[in-house]
Amino acid sequence: MNKGLIRDIFKEKKLRMSHPRLLIYRELSDAENPVSPQELYHSLLHQRRKIGLTSIYRSLDLFESFGMIFKIINGSSVKYKLCQTGDHHHHIVCKACGDVMELNFCDIADWSEKVMESTGYKVTDHQLSFYGLCPSCREGAERRD
Ligand SMILES: [Zn+2]
Ligand SMILES: [Zn+2]
Ligand SMILES: [Zn+2]
Repeated sequence: MNKGLIRDIFKEKKLRMSHPRLLIYRELSDAENPVSPQELYHSLLHQRRKIGLTSIYRSLDLFESFGMIFKIINGSSVKYKLCQTGDHHHHIVCKACGDVMELNFCDIADWSEKVMESTGYKVTDHQLSFYGLCPSCREGAERRD
């Protein structure tokens, strides 16, 4: 992803663009598979860009809070993947291979309604992820049965 495009995304989110943020975001956009903070650190270091793990973690938290990236927690491993859309969406994660797909629908309106009725809260946001087996891991698992 080029600098101009990243600049536009940051502008749209009203995020201040700093050099480390730009580099971290670009790494994520170039990665084909989900990456861990340590992997980001090492690949940046490899390009002679020394960015401390703390600021990598901080930037990742920030991007996540803006829905720009998705955090995949699998046991003790934590990886991040860039979101393809800036619109509200959910994810499904394969527990076997770690593959992630974005879901372009959200049918939680009724559920939010119920939450508001039963708690008196005003629901402003929600987070929900699905986990399971992707088609190819599922095939493998069925073959083993
Ligand atoms: Zn996403
Ligand atoms: Zn899988
Ligand atoms: Zn939703």
